[in-house]
Amino acid sequence: MTALSIQTVSNIVEELVSSKLLKPEAAQKIARGQPITPYSINPDGAYSIGLELGKDHAVGVLTDLSGRVRDRIERPVDRPTPEQAMPILADIVEALQTKVRFDRSRLLGVGIAMPGRYAAEGTTSLSPATLPGWQDFPVASELARLIRVPVRVENDATAAAIGERLHGVARGLQSFVYLFLGRGIGAGMFLDGHLYRRSHQNAGEIGHIVVVPNGRPCPCGKRGCLDRYVSLGSAYEHLGIEVSRKQPAEEVEALCLPLRSHFSIS
Ligand SMILES: [Zn+2]
Repeated sequence: MTALSIQTVSNIVEELVSSKLLKPEAAQKIARGQPITPYSINPDGAYSIGLELGKDHAVGVLTDLSGRVRDRIERPVDRPTPEQAMPILADIVEALQTKVRFDRSRLLGVGIAMPGRYAAEGTTSLSPATLPGWQDFPVASELARLIRVPVRVENDATAAAIGERLHGVARGLQSFVYLFLGRGIGAGMFLDGHLYRRSHQNAGEIGHIVVVPNGRPCPCGKRGCLDRYVSLGSAYEHLGIEVSRKQPAEEVEALCLPLRSHFSIS
């Protein structure tokens, strides 16, 4: 499929084995010729930590090279400012490395998924409606300074789309749109097998497209944004659930239960 010669493939495989990213399995006898050696991804070859920060929770997962989640830590937060959030995130990273036994030199880095939208030069400027005090705060460099591991910031919808492409329902799909329903609505896109980001990674920021001219007012200053009609935030508002309550998602679930006989909800 790659049109590479057997010798080239064998050289590449040898290199990946010596850097412990691949491991040889037991040789298999075939009807004719030399036995063949299958190779597989070495799960212990590399690790990474993924972080997500929301309004009321911070989550960290440690994954190995096979994509398996080896441990997960969740801490409650309450609409944190960057100054409050950074030590909590650093603490989660430290705790994950202490809980799971692995070669720390194989930790490639930390990725953090955050709601958009993004400004220039790697700084995030979260929309004021999402989290307060994050305008232009340099998340990646500040977190990297605390944990001394490379940090990459990614739009939450884009991060979710990458996850589905690598390990989820979008495996094998060349082009798809992932709709991310959080407090707002966002999208991650793959076109012809490539992540589609455009300027400042904001290609999927569809929440503030006006869909109802002169519609409901939006914290962004416009009226009739998609976000005000299709998002958890607007669902809570429609159902009369206070956003400040602890478990709004569970309350929505309970309110939807009577509908199950009419619609198929899973
Ligand atoms: Zn808006």
